[in-house]
Amino acid sequence: TPAIQTRELTKYYNDFQAVNNVNLYVEPGSLYGFLGPNGAGKSTTIKMLTGILKPTSGAVELLGGDPWDAAQGIEIKKRIGVVPEDLALFDNLTAREYLAFVGRMHSLDKATIVSRGEELLTLLKLEGVEKKLTVEYSHGMKKKLALAAALLPNPSLLFLDEPFEGVDVVTARSIRDLLMDYVANGSTVFVTTHVMEIVERICTHVGIIANGQLVEQCSLEELRAKT
Ligand code: ADP
Ligand code: ADP
Repeated sequence: TPAIQTRELTKYYNDFQAVNNVNLYVEPGSLYGFLGPNGAGKSTTIKMLTGILKPTSGAVELLGGDPWDAAQGIEIKKRIGVVPEDLALFDNLTAREYLAFVGRMHSLDKATIVSRGEELLTLLKLEGVEKKLTVEYSHGMKKKLALAAALLPNPSLLFLDEPFEGVDVVTARSIRDLLMDYVANGSTVFVTTHVMEIVERICTHVGIIANGQLVEQCSLEELRAKT
């Protein structure tokens, strides 16, 4: 079963076709880079995959089910994590309180929330600031906290929209290491970016989108052989 599969996925904004008959195929255990210039249709696609934006036409399958089906969708959403481009954290919570809140929403027990939460804060080098309110966080720290929150329930499939955008090199490296470890353990990561260098450094597979069309989809070895 593919982790992600779409069939002729299409989105119109009024008369404008932002995503045009896209057929994605993402194998479990891949770190899949969805690459394209600004305006190519990456955010529109990831929003249709994660249930934020309804496709105009076409089908999405995640982990073997339809996230847009009322019954299947609930089960699938429990198994996926999302780090959106525009972060919405609660300003008046500390990092630790925020993770506790997210953990309770996912019905995790307190011991799991604490142990896994501390582990993620350490991996992302956020230890020592867990008592600060998130309103005081830099952009990079917020990106890392959003990633920690998405990983807390241990999703099988993780989506990230431009996770390296506007973060410093050290932060980029800790995010990169965490994502690479995550797929090494059998989970699947789907990440959008407009930076080819990021795909070359971290991804196992790539899909290239331009003007709403998928123009390439292959492994990194295949991409290197072609270029
Ligand atoms: P990317 O994430 O690759 O930068 P987007 O998916 O955000 O691309 O946008 C794809 C195209 O759709 C762009 O031309 C953008 O201007 C357009 N677009 C995005 N959102 C809307 C919207 N809500 N209404 C109209 N056009 C939109
Ligand atoms: P750009 O400014 O080209 O859009 P980013 O903002 O995505 O690039 O990245 C900022 C800096 O961090 C760049 O110097 C880039 O090379 C580096 N960087 C981005 N992602 C990674 C990564 N996964 N590993 C290491 N360095 C990275």
